[in-house]
Amino acid sequence: MLLDFYKGDEVPEADVLIIGSGVAGLALAGELKGSGLRVVVLEAGRPKIDNSLLEHKTVDAPYRAAESAGRAKAFGGSSLTWGGQALPLNPHVFGPRPWINRADWPIGPDQIDPYASRALAAMNTPETPIGGTPWKAGIPELDPASLNWAVSRWSTQPNMAGKHKEWIAESQQVHVLTCAQAVELKQGPAVLVRSANGREELISAKRVVVAVGGTEAARMLLCSKEIPHNPNTGTSHMDHVSMVCADVYPESDVFYDRFVNWYSGGSKLMPKILLSKEIQKEKGLLDVGGHFDIPVTQGFDVLKRAARTRKPEDIRDLIRNLPGAVSAAASVKFKGRSPVDKSASIPLEALCEQEPDTGSTITLAEEKDSFGMPLALIDFKISELTRRSMTEFAMTVKREFEKAGLAKVCLHDDRLLDPVEFRKHAGDIYHPMGSTRMGADAEAGVVDPNLEVFGAPGFSILGSSVFPSGGWSNPTYIMLALACRLADRLRETIPAENA
Ligand SMILES: Cc1cc2nc3c(=O)[nH]c(=O)nc-3n(C[C@H](O)[C@H](O)[C@H](O)COP(=O)(O)OP(=O)(O)OC[C@H]3O[C@@H](n4cnc5c(N)ncnc54)[C@H](O)[C@@H]3O)c2cc1C
Repeated sequence: MLLDFYKGDEVPEADVLIIGSGVAGLALAGELKGSGLRVVVLEAGRPKIDNSLLEHKTVDAPYRAAESAGRAKAFGGSSLTWGGQALPLNPHVFGPRPWINRADWPIGPDQIDPYASRALAAMNTPETPIGGTPWKAGIPELDPASLNWAVSRWSTQPNMAGKHKEWIAESQQVHVLTCAQAVELKQGPAVLVRSANGREELISAKRVVVAVGGTEAARMLLCSKEIPHNPNTGTSHMDHVSMVCADVYPESDVFYDRFVNWYSGGSKLMPKILLSKEIQKEKGLLDVGGHFDIPVTQGFDVLKRAARTRKPEDIRDLIRNLPGAVSAAASVKFKGRSPVDKSASIPLEALCEQEPDTGSTITLAEEKDSFGMPLALIDFKISELTRRSMTEFAMTVKREFEKAGLAKVCLHDDRLLDPVEFRKHAGDIYHPMGSTRMGADAEAGVVDPNLEVFGAPGFSILGSSVFPSGGWSNPTYIMLALACRLADRLRETIPAENA
């Protein structure tokens, strides 16, 4: 059922208490549906987005993921604003990569791959193999020792509140309690919860899963005096660094055949290229890749906007551009391709992982939010290695694409070669990771390979903050594979304890 802590609804008994009803929390609740376990999900926000509830403080450099465009405090969490693009992590990112300090994962792809289908289903992405899909027009003729390729798959329904609302409203086993802000974790395990009208309650459960998002998880631990302090908490804060690093001018239609988005099973598929792991290893670089942001026709733009927002002004715009919109719809339906505007140059957008020890941190500010929790103080740094990795990627794309006669690639040398200019143009893309990292032991991490918090029995963390390193690809698919794995573990361990 959907309950409201502020309005005085009673808190049901829980075996599993999940804090946060974002992508991770709702996916875990969905995986536990029908398990017989009683599940309560605490959500600080309201049923709809209210950005006045976002409280964050950043220092040193702008950090977009902490701002209102970068997350949503509401039932459904950041799924109300995200893209819903799924990509696997490159297997070599799990490690070992001796040239990057503290980047190794204590688990390998063998712990993720068995959950691939369920993770894709959790994000409403049609199940065809990701990363291994043959490209619409054949595999690009690029030297695999320099550049590799992948395909990202987009969710057909990214809004997780929409996906889960109806069955939760009917359920007697899974309850979501909105306006319920967890303010402190207590040994037990238990959670102290407050609402804006001063209601306060200590809620216990057999297990507590902290699924509050990539920046809030570290804050939650740091605010909880009964959780033994782990020096790793709040360190190794990372994101993906993104920047347009070249303008591309296709020299052959083969370029468009290879790199235009296509549609299959209702899902958008986006071709990507990445720097080979051989070059990364040889030159000691980070995992980096990117895509060509091929402009679409104006007709397609207005069609997509009207379909997404359904606002009167966007519908009027659609009517004004009807012939273009009809031709765009026909291109998608009959050719399965985005209709492109071939008159414009094409930005090459690169995405680079960050190394875990840039010195970026999440600590507590002196200032408190309206519930008495200290705000998170985010110190986000971008390293020289990020710039070097992105520059090598851009230069490799130029070399390979010009050699293959696919396109002329004009690099933004000003941004790539000058660290000051680089910092002005490069920024995070709402993928906070690493600040409650997974490790083999408490010296290496905050949670163990099963996501359980070291030294705090009964507490787990689910989110991209457990990633010891992030690779270049969007994080949520891997996070959802971890959610499915955690659900299986909860299903196995809790009934066994009850028996
Ligand atoms: C614009 C944008 C585009 C993105 N695109 C992609 C993409 O294409 N692919 C991809 O993989 N990722 C993408 N992401 C990242 C993706 O949204 C996150 O990885 C994902 O939402 C993380 O899920 P989560 O459940 O950990 O956090 P969230 O979805 O942020 O949910 C956390 C929830 O916890 C609640 N909460 C926080 N603190 C408390 C508390 N103390 N008590 C109770 N509740 C609390 C919040 O209100 C929120 O509902 C994008 C993000 C943004 C902002």
